[in-house]
Amino acid sequence: MPLNRRILLQATAGTLIAAPWVAQAQSGPRIVVIGGGFGGATAAKYLKRFAPSLQVTLVEPNSEFIMCPMSNRVIHGGLSLRDISRPYERFVNRHGIQWVRGMAEEIDPERREVRVGSRRIPYDRLIVAPGMDYMYEEVPGLQSAEAQQLVPHAWKAGEQTQRLKDMLYGMREGGVVALHIPKVPYRCPPGPYERASLIAYFLQQRNPRGKLLVFDSNPEIQAKKGLFEAVWKGKYAGLIEYVPNAEVQSVDARTQTLELKVQGRHKVDVLNLIPPQRAGAIALRSGLANVGQRWCGVDFLTYESAVHKQIHVLGDSIASAPGTPKSGHMANQQAKVCAGAIAALAVGQPVPQQPIIANTCYSFVSQTEAIHVAGVYRYDPAKRTMVAAPGAGGLSEAPSTTESLYAMSWAANIMNDSIE
Ligand SMILES: Cc1cc2nc3c(=O)[nH]c(=O)nc-3n(C[C@H](O)[C@H](O)[C@H](O)COP(=O)(O)OP(=O)(O)OC[C@H]3O[C@@H](n4cnc5c(N)ncnc54)[C@H](O)[C@@H]3O)c2cc1C
Repeated sequence: MPLNRRILLQATAGTLIAAPWVAQAQSGPRIVVIGGGFGGATAAKYLKRFAPSLQVTLVEPNSEFIMCPMSNRVIHGGLSLRDISRPYERFVNRHGIQWVRGMAEEIDPERREVRVGSRRIPYDRLIVAPGMDYMYEEVPGLQSAEAQQLVPHAWKAGEQTQRLKDMLYGMREGGVVALHIPKVPYRCPPGPYERASLIAYFLQQRNPRGKLLVFDSNPEIQAKKGLFEAVWKGKYAGLIEYVPNAEVQSVDARTQTLELKVQGRHKVDVLNLIPPQRAGAIALRSGLANVGQRWCGVDFLTYESAVHKQIHVLGDSIASAPGTPKSGHMANQQAKVCAGAIAALAVGQPVPQQPIIANTCYSFVSQTEAIHVAGVYRYDPAKRTMVAAPGAGGLSEAPSTTESLYAMSWAANIMNDSIE
């Protein structure tokens, strides 16, 4: 058993180091985790690892986690949803996590309770990791559930991913697809440009007279710019048209028509619009989104909320440190820092003061080629935020099949580290 784990075990349980793990009473502080994605599931797992006597409860409505990384490959037909799904049952049993299958509807910070249906779950500390939600009020025409079905975002992997794939496969020969990208910050900065590349790949293979219009609300490509530009100009010449500064005026879902503020009206065959985003609804409802009423401010040493003590926020919902992406890899890393801090606090030890975290984002640009960007971030005590470590990180020189193999390994490893 590693030393730090032994110390925590001894101190938390107040027993001899020799006591077997299984004999530890589950009587430590109660930690409730809302959301079993990259942030929440990783936190639940590592809390039990660092301090086994903590009583960890995960609140998550779904029976399985479907990861967004690699979901763009499902859209073009390279993978299936099954390939990117992982059941919760085996995971919670393996780690001794209690699972409440439902949506957290309310947080009461005074009584320290989470309401799930008619049940109230008490906590000593709460971790809120609900991912992100959409700001449909900023997209006139997409308010109704029906309109949202007709114009899929496919930005939470699952049923919408499949629908977008079916729409592409059902498109007429020579049809036009439009992909609309919101202003930053949004989940996964390179994700829309990976999707554009893979839709172009799909068209090239199955509908070569088709065309993809990429309408970006931003003034330029937000990640791996030169690499994507080179791929689009070379491999997909004539298939992709990229339009920057293309902000939405309104949408007519029934006719798949997009009205842009400057560039006018575009009626297409398949409209894929990624709406602007903000913290997950439960975080917003609970008053945790103190940054622009949109994202949750946190202390980067513990991920404790800037609004409510004893409540921590992870993943896409947080106001990310400047220059850091909203990604599954970051959510996983933040979760370990948070779990370490909570475990330390539980046993009266100091919270580590120098967290270092890393991020890698792979993007497929065809069935067999990928590119990556990587970063390393360390805590800056003066700025009280995470900053890029000089000289660390990197960017691909060009797409390669070797990187596509690395990308698949990365995906398997992050899934195994988070939810296995
Ligand atoms: C197309 C695409 C490609 C991507 N590719 C990559 C990539 O290559 N690398 C990378 O690192 N990241 C990638 N990402 C980003 C990554 O998926 C997200 O950043 C990551 O999932 C965020 O983790 P999270 O824990 O904050 O949220 P999630 O992983 O979305 O988990 C949130 C969980 O909370 C649950 N939940 C929500 N509300 C409640 C509630 N009220 N009660 C209980 N449960 C609730 C949800 O059911 C969900 O399981 C990609 C994203 C997209 C869309």
